[in-house]
Amino acid sequence: MSGVLNGQPAAGDAAARNGTRAEFALREMPALLAGREIACQACGSADLTSFFGDNGVPAIRGDFLFATCEDALECPRGDLELALCRSCGTVSNLRFDERRILQQPFGERMHSQRLVRFMIDTCDDQITKYGLGTGSTVLEIGCGSGEFLTLLCERAGCDGIGVDPAHANGNVPLPSSNAVRFVQDAYGPACSHLRADYVYSRRAIEELAGVSGFARELRETLGERRHVHLLFQLRDVESVLEHGAFWDLSFQQCTYFTRGSAAALLRRNRFHVVELYRAYGGQFVMIEARPAREPTLARLSQEDDLQRMTALASDFAARVRTRTRQIEQLMEGACAEGADLCIWGAGPKCAALLHGLRAAAKRISVVDVDPARQGRFLAGSGIEVAAPETLARKRRGIVLLPNAICMEEVQGQLARVGCTMRLVPL
Ligand SMILES: [Zn+2]
Repeated sequence: MSGVLNGQPAAGDAAARNGTRAEFALREMPALLAGREIACQACGSADLTSFFGDNGVPAIRGDFLFATCEDALECPRGDLELALCRSCGTVSNLRFDERRILQQPFGERMHSQRLVRFMIDTCDDQITKYGLGTGSTVLEIGCGSGEFLTLLCERAGCDGIGVDPAHANGNVPLPSSNAVRFVQDAYGPACSHLRADYVYSRRAIEELAGVSGFARELRETLGERRHVHLLFQLRDVESVLEHGAFWDLSFQQCTYFTRGSAAALLRRNRFHVVELYRAYGGQFVMIEARPAREPTLARLSQEDDLQRMTALASDFAARVRTRTRQIEQLMEGACAEGADLCIWGAGPKCAALLHGLRAAAKRISVVDVDPARQGRFLAGSGIEVAAPETLARKRRGIVLLPNAICMEEVQGQLARVGCTMRLVPL
């Protein structure tokens, strides 16, 4: 499975080593074959080590579902070649190519009670910490459908501006009492007139090619307004590497951060790092910052993770093989007994998991609680998404749960439909 590039051993099959253009040459690799120097997207260093590769992963931003099985099977795809920057610890996909990505509408995602709880807690924490309320304006960069922005504005009683090139108006009901507006554009110098007291971005800057340029522009647009606080919520790649969680990798994500590399990016671009922590069961890096006059120096113990990342990257491919084998054995065991196999949740994690499992995934079904997802087909595998009720009264088999933090909630939902299949968090 993962780790094979065009039938040849991928970078991760050996210990981490320097990637060369020839070593990872694929049929389609225009940027690399063009002879351009490969540099870290975050710090510009050329000291990169390739450590994991995979081909043909679905290349989609937004909703991973299609109306027909054919469209889902023929979805755009791209390749992964993950490289660790040995200067700053950022992980980049050297094969990232914006042009390959299909932009789909953002679906309504607030169907997980656990996720809603996390979003509410995050809102309330930031409202209290930074005094957000009537008269203040918050700005979200990469707001998607705008569900978090409207939630924050409702709870704080403040005004909001959401910026996203792919935002489509009308997806989310707007709060009646506040002024919430959306700008259908990428955040950049043209947004410098958008004055806000608080700026945040959730899972968006990792999808930008040239994240360093983004951080620099963001700082420039803030100018002398150094009272503005910022929050970035990023996927924590340290935990992805630690758990061999190949289902958390995706083509649309260009860069992956740890606490240390996220802090380094902001500090280099003239921000103070106010708070730096993990949240949501270790899935996210949360970094709170404010503008500084000059670049700032690392001073928090949790920023010191480069050595650990180097070690984790060196055996990530082996860890992925181990995890894949474990899941395959679980599935083989269920198949041998003629029992059912299922994955809970039809999002990007599910698509990546099915892609990683390849042939082993053929007998598996996918369920999702979101009615808008049911009856549609999952990118890559073309599996039709069913309602959890289809598991009613099923007593044998396995339900795989890529998002382990929702274990308790999903256990309850299975019990409600009378399903006693074994729920396995990944
Ligand atoms: Zn770097």
